[in-house]
Amino acid sequence: MITKIPANLSSGLLPVELFDCLPVAVYTCDHLGYLTFYNKAAADLWGREPELGKELWCGSWKIFWPDGTPMALDSCPMARALKEGLPVIDEEIIIQCPDGTMKNLLPSPVPLFDQLGVLQGAVNTLLDITEQRQGEKKQAMLAAIIEYSEDAIVSKGLDGLITSWNQGAEKLFGYTEKEVLGKHISLLIPKDRLDEENLIIDRVRNNKNIEHFETVRITKNGQSVPISLTVSPIRDQKGRIIGASKIARDISMQKQSEAQLQKLYDDIQIMNSRKDEFIGMASHELKTPVTSIDAFLQLVQRSLKLEDKDKELVFKARNQVAKLISLISDLLDVTKIQTGKLPYTFTSFDFNDLLKEVIEVMQQNHPGHEINLDHPAGMLNVYADKQRLEQVIINLVSNAIKYAPNTNKMRVAVLEAQHRLQLSVQDFGPGIELPEQEHIFSRFYQIKKPSGNASGLGIGLYISKEIIDRHQGKIWVESSPGKGSTFSFELPLQLQN
Ligand code: ADP
Repeated sequence: MITKIPANLSSGLLPVELFDCLPVAVYTCDHLGYLTFYNKAAADLWGREPELGKELWCGSWKIFWPDGTPMALDSCPMARALKEGLPVIDEEIIIQCPDGTMKNLLPSPVPLFDQLGVLQGAVNTLLDITEQRQGEKKQAMLAAIIEYSEDAIVSKGLDGLITSWNQGAEKLFGYTEKEVLGKHISLLIPKDRLDEENLIIDRVRNNKNIEHFETVRITKNGQSVPISLTVSPIRDQKGRIIGASKIARDISMQKQSEAQLQKLYDDIQIMNSRKDEFIGMASHELKTPVTSIDAFLQLVQRSLKLEDKDKELVFKARNQVAKLISLISDLLDVTKIQTGKLPYTFTSFDFNDLLKEVIEVMQQNHPGHEINLDHPAGMLNVYADKQRLEQVIINLVSNAIKYAPNTNKMRVAVLEAQHRLQLSVQDFGPGIELPEQEHIFSRFYQIKKPSGNASGLGIGLYISKEIIDRHQGKIWVESSPGKGSTFSFELPLQLQN
């Protein structure tokens, strides 16, 4: 690569190879400015190998001033050192290599004269300061981010003395940088929280961060301000922990919204329990007169010799009163579930017996419907509340009648497996959309109101779920629109000794 040794360097003391070993880029020009020599480090820096004796002043592909504007070749530091016969010191340039890489260089061209003082040429060393400049740029950017951050960013030594303070800190705590530098951080800590500082410093010493720690600090005018604090250790160049940086965010607004939300939630809870109380009280108050009406109607039915037409009327009236009683007792059940007071009486009995009885009565009450019952032979012993299970079966069968008006058929089936029984009530009605299926076991949830004479408040399935849950069972629905619905529950069988 090196084709010619400049006369003033060829005294025999410095072999050319020696320059190639140097990590610093070095090159020379003759008195006219033509390149006469460069070492390997210079070629690496330029990203090219300029032609000796033909190229002038510099081997760079392109040169720029530090502000990025192009620099004419004859204005480069080497050209000026030769023209003026003086070294050029501390004038930074930017070069571009043929592959597009930009580099920051610090050239130091020095003119060389012979013993008579006649200019022979010049030697130039090039220092690559790209990394240093990029580091400085990054530092400046980080400093700007810290300075203009909305958050308070503060640093302190392990002794707790404040070492830096940004504008955000000034805005949040009211002190200027001048007022707090060198002061102890406890200046900001309320008296009853002074222990926090020891805990924070302990964590920092053990190289641990503190993230989003919610606490309170005191401003210059003595006001308490809720903040979220993030603290991380600061290290020196050798990696030793020398202090901590703190980022404090004002969370007063957030705390206010949280308090408002909490108040809203509490108000809703109060209104909700008042509503539950009202439902409980109203249904209780309704139950006595309605039960009395039913008793009177029963007397009328028994004791009076009525015409057929009037008998029919009393029968209809009793039917309506029965519906009213059933609605009221459902409402009372809901209130009791809410307060955890729904009573249960557990006994051992055969589930098959109960099921057959219930279906028989349902079949008699709904002669127009065909209820197909399918159950295994033998006994299915359960330890359960008979009345409550009856309530669940009646609810599922009544729903299959109420909500599948297009058909008069349904199938009730029982399966036994792995010490559990499963009862399914299948109808061939309109079915239930998937999103609705998730909600139908919730309180007061109705997809649509029952049509015709049927009644409902959207609580039957809610009560059924509560009852089955209390029996360590589960209840669910399988349905697809147009293909009917199957409601099932599963219960543990009583183990026989
Ligand atoms: P309600 O007590 O008013 O009858 P449920 O809690 O028993 O209410 O049922 C909740 C909702 O689920 C009802 O509004 C009804 O739309 C729907 N539903 C219940 N059973 C069926 C069914 N077999 N077919 C279609 N929809 C049903």
